[in-house]
Amino acid sequence: MKGNGNHNARIGVYVCHCGTNIAGKVDVNALAEYAGKLPGVIVSREYKYMCSDPGQELIVKDVKDLKLNRVVVASCSPHLHELTFRKTTANAGQNPYLFHMVNLREHVSWVSEDPIAATEKSKALVKAAVLRAVWHEELEPRRFPVNPNVLIVGGGIAGIHAALTLASAGKQVYLVEREPSIGGHMAQFDKTFPTLDCAACILTPKMTAVKQSSNIHLYSLSEVSEVSGFVGNFKVKVKKYPRYIDEAKCVGCGECIEECVYKEGKYPNEFDLGLGKRKPIYMSFPQAVPSIPLIDSATCIEFKSHKCPKGCVEKCGDRNAIDFTQKVEEVELEVGTIIMATGFKTFDPRRLPQYGYGKFPNVYTSLEIERLVNASGPTLGQVILRDGRRPESIGILHCIGSRDENTNKYCSRVCCMYSLKLAHLLKEKTGAHLYNFYIDMRTPGKGFEEFYKRVLDEGVSFIRGKVAEVSGWAQSPAEEGKMILRVEDTLLGIIRRIPVDMVVLSTGLEPQADQQEVRRLFNLGCSAEGWFLERHPKLAPVDTFTDGIFLAGCNQGPKDIPDTVAQAGAAAAQCMAHIDKGFVEMEPNTAWIDEELCSGCHVCIGMCPYSAIHFDTEKKVAVLNEALCKGCGSCVAACPSGSAQQNLFRDEQLFAEVEGVLV
Ligand SMILES: Cc1cc2nc3c(=O)[nH]c(=O)nc-3n(C[C@H](O)[C@H](O)[C@H](O)COP(=O)(O)OP(=O)(O)OC[C@H]3O[C@@H](n4cnc5c(N)ncnc54)[C@H](O)[C@@H]3O)c2cc1C
Repeated sequence: MKGNGNHNARIGVYVCHCGTNIAGKVDVNALAEYAGKLPGVIVSREYKYMCSDPGQELIVKDVKDLKLNRVVVASCSPHLHELTFRKTTANAGQNPYLFHMVNLREHVSWVSEDPIAATEKSKALVKAAVLRAVWHEELEPRRFPVNPNVLIVGGGIAGIHAALTLASAGKQVYLVEREPSIGGHMAQFDKTFPTLDCAACILTPKMTAVKQSSNIHLYSLSEVSEVSGFVGNFKVKVKKYPRYIDEAKCVGCGECIEECVYKEGKYPNEFDLGLGKRKPIYMSFPQAVPSIPLIDSATCIEFKSHKCPKGCVEKCGDRNAIDFTQKVEEVELEVGTIIMATGFKTFDPRRLPQYGYGKFPNVYTSLEIERLVNASGPTLGQVILRDGRRPESIGILHCIGSRDENTNKYCSRVCCMYSLKLAHLLKEKTGAHLYNFYIDMRTPGKGFEEFYKRVLDEGVSFIRGKVAEVSGWAQSPAEEGKMILRVEDTLLGIIRRIPVDMVVLSTGLEPQADQQEVRRLFNLGCSAEGWFLERHPKLAPVDTFTDGIFLAGCNQGPKDIPDTVAQAGAAAAQCMAHIDKGFVEMEPNTAWIDEELCSGCHVCIGMCPYSAIHFDTEKKVAVLNEALCKGCGSCVAACPSGSAQQNLFRDEQLFAEVEGVLV
């Protein structure tokens, strides 16, 4: 058992007015007088703002002059000023963990009606603090060195930007991307709102810079399979799936693709969402990075029957880059910090059959339209319907899978703007009449409202109403071959029937399908909607609850490219702060396990949300890794033998505190 309590405690109590925040409700003079009579209290004072410089100097002077060995400050939330006062006592030469704080503001004055009851409650809390402080003991924060290497998971624009930022500061980055190329969703777009920048023109220089940087080690077709360790010292296993082309030997000439036994594409190209065809040996898109083809073993004749003439191998010649024997490889990396940049998936509109996706060939998702209008897309930018016609009328349906009680309640933030972009591009390319069906137009960004106005001026129609159904019920020869949209126009208050040739579903953004598995792998939290959870929505938006792991981009929630890039920069800055400091310091409020008392029941292991406890099979006891422990106390509460204890929350400290409140 650690610590026996200091029965020669010399305690100073300091009651803060916090202006009128506390003093307006609690009788601070009576409280200070009461505290002065508690056992072990040498001095008790009240002061207007204890956190001010004069307030802190008061404490320092008393500690020195009166030889105090414990300090209790009764003021606001420890979240705000515990660190301030720990530093104050440390400046006075005292171990900062001999200090204790009482929250009179949030726990008493702000939540009490009656001043007398508030003062009595304050007395009980101060007494509890004084009794517990006697049992405080000197503790030291723990220090661990930080490995300067960074892992980034996901090579969309978020991962790319974070990688380049870190690399430009001289840091070594491992960028793990599970697709054959980096680029993410942005690589699929033709133009980007609201400026209509060509997506490839602004993205591909960054993709190329990733490849050219000697500080970035790119693992494409790869996924993280195991993560252990803690901030500053993570060990990561990466599974690298076979490309069947040796990346070190291939020069990306693409001649192997030409020589494939299939002269035309035969299988749906995943990058084009099945709108175009590819061969079994292919490059997902022309600007792919790495600029190296891959072979799909599921469709390649050589893998299926070993009867392929292998024109690809012959063409590659002495370079000998094609390797049908490649297997999954496992790579082990050691990094100090991690950035999660795994992005999003789009809502699957088959979940809403009333919109006819998969039933009517000319119903498309917004992402499919991105490929269709793209100059390097499957139709080279020509908008031709699946039945070969050119559309004369197009309906764009907003909020598919967003702002809907039956699917996702949240707004996907980018759909109004990308719908405007697609309306503009479709109008430009087809001259068709465009209808946008919206619930509310949400355009709160730089240049967004102006872009909305521009699209209005271009003659695009906007109908406020949610389309109830897409059907094929033509009522006149003119409607033959068209789809009929039924919608309540909520501005005119009428039901409308609008025949169109093409329907575009503006599908919302959702967490990745494997978001929960990835969450478990990296020990992250998720919001109710399934997005990765940031530590604080306002003050720590890129931090997670696992120290050293940061978030960037759409895995934390829907956002556009500028916000994604800003967040990626912030995540990179957080990594650099750790690296440049060189070490991490951790609070000593961790749990510990008394091996003598541990019965080896395993209960604590299952309770620990941070995987900080393992079982020592030789000693047959639970062993806690202090570096991983966050001091949540779950193991301490669950331990039936009382062998798990926690610094700053030891049984004696808690019992003394309870006694102070009750007796
Ligand atoms: C139809 C549509 C149009 C849009 N148009 C615009 C626009 O014009 N302007 C604009 O500002 N925004 C637009 N957006 C929003 C834009 O797509 C996002 O802001 C941006 O793509 C977010 O980038 P990201 O890197 O966070 O995610 P993503 O682009 O989704 O990239 C994530 C990357 O991580 C990889 N990955 C995922 N999981 C793993 C894993 N476990 N291991 C390894 N790699 C993994 C993925 O393969 C992918 O490469 C649009 C969105 C949609 C749906």
